[in-house]
Amino acid sequence: KHQASPPHIVMVPSPGMGHLIPLVELAKLLVHHHNFTITMIIPTVGPPTKPQNTLLQTLPKSINYFFLPPIDFHDLPQETQTQTKITLSVTRSLSAIRNIFESLAANSNLVALVVDIFGTDTFDIAKEFNVPSYLFWSSMAMGLILLLYMPTLDKMVSCEFRDLAEPVKLPGCIPISGADFPESFQDRKSEAYKWFLQYGKRLHLSEGILVNSFMELEPDAIKTLTDDIGLCGPPLYSIGPLIQTSSYNGPGCLECLKWLDEQPRGSVLFVSFGSGGTLSFEQLNELALGLEMSGTKFLWVVKSPDNKASDASFFSVQSQTDPLGFLPKGFVERTKLGQGLLVPSWAPQSEVLGHGSIGGFLSHCGWNSILESIVNGVPLIAWPLYAEQKMNANVLCDGLKVALRPKANKNGIVGCEEIGRVVKELMEGEEGFRVRVKMNGWKEAAKKALSKEGSSIKALSELVMKLKKHKCN
Ligand code: UDP
Repeated sequence: KHQASPPHIVMVPSPGMGHLIPLVELAKLLVHHHNFTITMIIPTVGPPTKPQNTLLQTLPKSINYFFLPPIDFHDLPQETQTQTKITLSVTRSLSAIRNIFESLAANSNLVALVVDIFGTDTFDIAKEFNVPSYLFWSSMAMGLILLLYMPTLDKMVSCEFRDLAEPVKLPGCIPISGADFPESFQDRKSEAYKWFLQYGKRLHLSEGILVNSFMELEPDAIKTLTDDIGLCGPPLYSIGPLIQTSSYNGPGCLECLKWLDEQPRGSVLFVSFGSGGTLSFEQLNELALGLEMSGTKFLWVVKSPDNKASDASFFSVQSQTDPLGFLPKGFVERTKLGQGLLVPSWAPQSEVLGHGSIGGFLSHCGWNSILESIVNGVPLIAWPLYAEQKMNANVLCDGLKVALRPKANKNGIVGCEEIGRVVKELMEGEEGFRVRVKMNGWKEAAKKALSKEGSSIKALSELVMKLKKHKCN
């Protein structure tokens, strides 16, 4: 009865800007170029954050969104991992999601459900209404291979993965040591590990997997995912790089872009640990001193330190206290006279990375940040913190060869001298030159993937054709 109306898609992004941003970009692409309409159903754990609101308020009318009532975690033990909370925020929202889904199934030409890896429990709802489900994989293809191999590795390996003597060699991937496996795989007795094993199995219930990567960047991994009979996953569509195109106009944004306008070309290091990343008090201070010692210009998104967790601002994004108050004595005054600009909590990252004054990016290696760096040809300093970031950092340094990596001392802290050295090397040294040249090559490859006959555009049109073929009840 609704076949005449435009094809409609429901998306369920799990909490975290790194999940919301690429799904919003996918939604915009489908709406602007392929005449879909979209509803985003958004599970929450508290009031929406400013960056979340700003992003959603700029969406076109054909993308509708609902925030679900916040999920309460008071019953959980204090040490519950972020990844478990993300999953629970979706599973505890299932009946609210089902209500909206039911009404959309009755009143629109609903052709698909698209969710990220934390949302696979919603596949059951889609199945009930005979709507195909798709997974949006918001990290690199290699991570997907690891996830699909997890049930096998779980049977073969009896110790913790970090205690394996040899790096694990998976088809289509660079060898990876167990200690660099994603955080959720580090404690095999944990809830998070069990959830991820479960996700790996549930992937097979989807009609297709959309991966935010591209053939030219990860040819071996993507070919493995498409051709490896042993893996036998659902059809894969590598449609990346999808990066943030919305501009953010929150506090400090204009100032930050204006400051960049005044700096020489390629002279500024951008420093940011993503939406969730936080450092300990000691590490924050070493970083401040290291940046100052390097003599390099920097734009630093500063967050208040947290001595317990490296993802302390994951749900809140903004620091609850003034982050500048934690920096070394006199640092703010000394560096604001020309060397640096400090932005508390959130910057218009995608625009910053596209600015000609930026010459390097010290990053926590979140996948979206990596893609934004690639698209803009900005080489990196890899400073992984949590989730799958160590694995990403390895790929950046050893696989793609676009990043330098500072070494931590025996206490696990990266000292200020080491930071100063690596920053100078990236911005002025020979190694820095080499990674910059490499990065420019990947930038061109990304452009090619997104050009008219490019690999990602082709994959997207195949996907669109398949989506449009679905006939609703
Ligand atoms: N981001 C931003 N401003 C900030 C920090 C992050 O716009 O100050 C955006 C960034 O451009 C990226 C996303 O938030 O699109 C972060 O995703 P990523 O996967 O890099 O890291 P996560 O925050 O998920 O750890």
